[in-house]
Amino acid sequence: MLRIKNVGKIYSNNFKALTDINLEVADGEFLAVMGPSGSGKSTLINILGLLDNDYTGDYFLSNENYKHSDDATLSAVRGDEIGFVFQNFKLLNSYTVYENIEIPLIYSKTKTITDCKSVINEVIEQVGLSGKENSLPKELSGGQQQRVAIARAIVNNPDIIIADEPTGALDSKTSLEIMNIFTHLNETFDTTIIMVTHDKEVADFAMRTVYIRDGRLYNDEKSVVRS
Ligand code: ADP
Repeated sequence: MLRIKNVGKIYSNNFKALTDINLEVADGEFLAVMGPSGSGKSTLINILGLLDNDYTGDYFLSNENYKHSDDATLSAVRGDEIGFVFQNFKLLNSYTVYENIEIPLIYSKTKTITDCKSVINEVIEQVGLSGKENSLPKELSGGQQQRVAIARAIVNNPDIIIADEPTGALDSKTSLEIMNIFTHLNETFDTTIIMVTHDKEVADFAMRTVYIRDGRLYNDEKSVVRS
């Protein structure tokens, strides 16, 4: 579970980007975060993703508060527990599909090479990219590149996926395909998903939507749990 209590963020230029944010995200929940450009969405998910621990208030991830943890601890927790997916995929262009997905495992000391191979092949199949293992990102469509990025995000079996505008660079048909993959991961593996989006149709895939405006969080009164 993620729990944010009275969190505020002031950037070094004294700009108040977040004010008094309270939010709980249950294990297995699929949450959409919506809000206009500049409202504080990235600032919030940087805190949730343990990329920024310079904030006021408290953030508990699985009941742990990492506010005063060093960079090595933060990066180890991120590597174990959180998978990131970005709007522009952020793949390494000179690496193949297989190699891109392998990267998080190189830092994970718990798996043997044989285990790695089978888990990589498994996630490649899950995102529908079997046969593309040796392709380079430039040989793939945008949707296929985002599938690679999702495979890379889930290869370490994270509890949480943080996705920042994952369909922002995709057409609407491809966006739907990508959202079906997220829904499948959420339903099959109970992966908690926190997704920033501008797109109401994309947000509708989530169980719950919260809104940010001028650094303040508003809940969706009409929240429903997907049946
Ligand atoms: P969003 O993701 O909703 O577009 P951001 O979280 O990126 O919004 O930004 C929220 C506000 O904080 C914006 O007004 C932005 O200009 C400001 N901001 C973001 N990063 C910094 C920074 N490093 N220094 C100062 N202001 C920042």
